[in-house]
Amino acid sequence: MNEATSVSAKPEQPARHEFGSVPFSGRPDALFERHLLSDAVVEPSTAYDRQRFEALARSVRDLLSRRWIETQRTYDQQNPKRIYYMSMEFLIGRSLANNVMNLMLKPFIERTAHEGGLDWLGLVEQEPDAGLGNGGLGRLAACFLDSMATMQLPAMGYGLRYEYGMFRQSIERGWQREHPDGWLRRQDPWEVSRRSQFVEVALGCTFEMHRGGLQIVANRPSTLIGIPYDRPVVGFGGKTINSLRLWSATAQDAFDFQEFSSGDFVGALVGGIAAQTLTRVLYPDDSTEMGQGLRFAQEYFLVACSLADLVRRFRRDNRDWNLLPDKVAIQLNDTHPTLAVPELMRILLDEAHLDWEQSWGLTQRTLAYTNHTLLPEALEKWPLRYFQQMLPRHLEIIYEINHRFLSDVRRRYPGDEARVERVSLIEEGPDNKDKVRMANLAIVGSHSTNGVAAIHSELLRTTTVRDLAEFFPERFNNKTNGVTPRRWLLLANPALSGAITGAIGDGWTTDFDKIARLKPAAEDAAFRRSFLQAKRDAKARFANWLKSTSGQVVDPDSIFDCQIKRIHEYKRQMLNALRIVVLYNRLRANPALDMAPRTFFFGGKAAPAYRLAKLIIKFINNLAGTIDGDPAIRGRIKVVFLPEYCVSLAERLMPAADVSNQISTAGFEASGTSNMKFMMNGALTVGTRDGATIEMAQEAGEENLFLFGLTAQQVVDSRGWYSPYWHYENDTETRAALDLIASDYFSRNERGAFRLLHDTLLKHGDHYMHLADLTAYLEADRALCSLYADREAWARKAILNVASSGKFSSDRTIAQYAREIWHVKPCPVA
Ligand SMILES: *Cc1c(COP(=O)(O)O)cnc(C)c1O
Repeated sequence: MNEATSVSAKPEQPARHEFGSVPFSGRPDALFERHLLSDAVVEPSTAYDRQRFEALARSVRDLLSRRWIETQRTYDQQNPKRIYYMSMEFLIGRSLANNVMNLMLKPFIERTAHEGGLDWLGLVEQEPDAGLGNGGLGRLAACFLDSMATMQLPAMGYGLRYEYGMFRQSIERGWQREHPDGWLRRQDPWEVSRRSQFVEVALGCTFEMHRGGLQIVANRPSTLIGIPYDRPVVGFGGKTINSLRLWSATAQDAFDFQEFSSGDFVGALVGGIAAQTLTRVLYPDDSTEMGQGLRFAQEYFLVACSLADLVRRFRRDNRDWNLLPDKVAIQLNDTHPTLAVPELMRILLDEAHLDWEQSWGLTQRTLAYTNHTLLPEALEKWPLRYFQQMLPRHLEIIYEINHRFLSDVRRRYPGDEARVERVSLIEEGPDNKDKVRMANLAIVGSHSTNGVAAIHSELLRTTTVRDLAEFFPERFNNKTNGVTPRRWLLLANPALSGAITGAIGDGWTTDFDKIARLKPAAEDAAFRRSFLQAKRDAKARFANWLKSTSGQVVDPDSIFDCQIKRIHEYKRQMLNALRIVVLYNRLRANPALDMAPRTFFFGGKAAPAYRLAKLIIKFINNLAGTIDGDPAIRGRIKVVFLPEYCVSLAERLMPAADVSNQISTAGFEASGTSNMKFMMNGALTVGTRDGATIEMAQEAGEENLFLFGLTAQQVVDSRGWYSPYWHYENDTETRAALDLIASDYFSRNERGAFRLLHDTLLKHGDHYMHLADLTAYLEADRALCSLYADREAWARKAILNVASSGKFSSDRTIAQYAREIWHVKPCPVA
């Protein structure tokens, strides 16, 4: 593809429009008052903060609505190839400040706020996080929407409108407690319900509420209704406003009130309740199999609603079904929407009445799949039983796909039945426990399979789905993840952003490769000073926020050492905790030890059913309490577990971080994205050679990170003989740390509380090889601390990291998807 027609990662600079000119329709101050008066019906001077937030958000929505319509009309008129990003999760966070920034409205809003005596930052705090995701996968989807809109790509996100998003976390006596997140309890000012565009979803079964749970009732076909709710996705500069369309489930009977008079009244009501239960709650687990039928039904509901919607749009604008892959690119974010393969086949075969060959070609050329994990327990496999009960026609189609595919495999590898068994879409189990392998279905039914970092794509190809990669080598590719530098740097870190713009201009916001121009500034003493000042200010701001919201006091002159991410054994929060126990032992043994004061921040949620992950949270909290209670150590090291890790907490902490811990067992973290957010914000990385951290080191130079520990290859090679006992016997500090945990030193009134942790690390073989990496981690830690003592050298490295983070903009990632997978070009709005 030549340069002129290809997508570049460099959208043009947005225009700085004045008010009264296009494209806005109104003034913020007048709109704001009108919303308070006519929506909330309150005297503006007596309104509550929440009412003010709603009125302000509504005003911003008014300002963008014309442009939103204009964008959609442009797509309808120009009929470009469109991208549909299908995902069970969108971890959006808050929208007000981000939309105001992207619309370039900040000066106007701040003036309005100032003149009206409003506390702008306080109003921003009124917005709940839209927590419709578990972690990295959902946040990636949100960053991608931002990049696609900024790059003026004709795109739409499809997801589910969960009434309850990710649970809210509190800590009680050190333990995680989960609370429902009723983020829609109060009307969300951004969403627009499009009831007239409802779709019907036919199922081979119905659902009933039974003892508080949803039960499948087989052989009773039913129809669900999907109602779309659209949210604006504002591109930076406000030129393109795409939509995120979230589906809400309701029953036909609840939707169509006429049914009540004719049908079974009670049955209709129960049906309605059961149907609404379908989009009630996000499953709070991002990496383990959960054999629940409700989740399966949710996945089908997303796929069926979205495909019906996009096929209707396609048919409105195109006569010929053969144009489908020229007009539609569907990206499946992990296997969760893989039922799109048999669903699209069903539409083409049964509704369009095309033949098999034609339907199959169109399906494959339209769909593309992104893999997010190598953990075998996280590869989705659904019991055949669910298909038999809910989707019998889809099962027929899957059997036919499998039959044809396995014939091809047998032709290419005659007599290799072991291979046939490995690649089959069906995993055979004893007494009708067969399962459908969703990753295999996604790979066979699409034209592209990508991993999310170079090492991950490589391991995917050579280990996890090796046979399929051998069969379809041309389908496999890599798209290293990225994050949007607008939310994660420009919005989250105004002080550093200002310093960067002062040094290199503001082109970096939409052309993040330009951040490389900051490299010479690492050698500029004045810039180093402003970098250190921005960091110090951000740390003080974070410390103030923490004190005012939780009463906890931290020292902004200590090293802020952070690990925030889902709690999981492979991410090894426990390795970090062991490091702290060793440092604590050193201080106890030698109080005169010269050690810079440090604050260790942890944050993250554990899946409610993941016992060990919850125990790790408890351990971190007890470790924090023990250290706080030790007068000899207090003030030298401190551990803080930040409850309720979410997008807005990440935005707060990133600017304040000195050190980023990315310490997964090598070969287990697909990419990671918090590593990138920290890098852009000038934190130094201590980490293993895993995921995208490897590419960060390539960009910045290994000497500017603190890498340590086993490589992915070494992890695999030592699996057979690795013994944690060797380290226990031979590393004295490791032994002392484990013995201290075993002695109930951190659980004095809770005897044996951490036995399971201790046993996992020692008796049960330490699957994630914590002990193998602990001494190397401590060595890296020592190097890091001695660098910190030299403020100039530290600033130099940190600035070089920021300057080397250009690759990790999601604009670059999206440009690659658009060019190499989707073949979609920008469709600018006039
Ligand atoms: C970026 C982000 C993640 C992903 O973090 P990793 O360290 O890459 O797992 C998870 N949750 C939130 C809220 C994030 O912002």
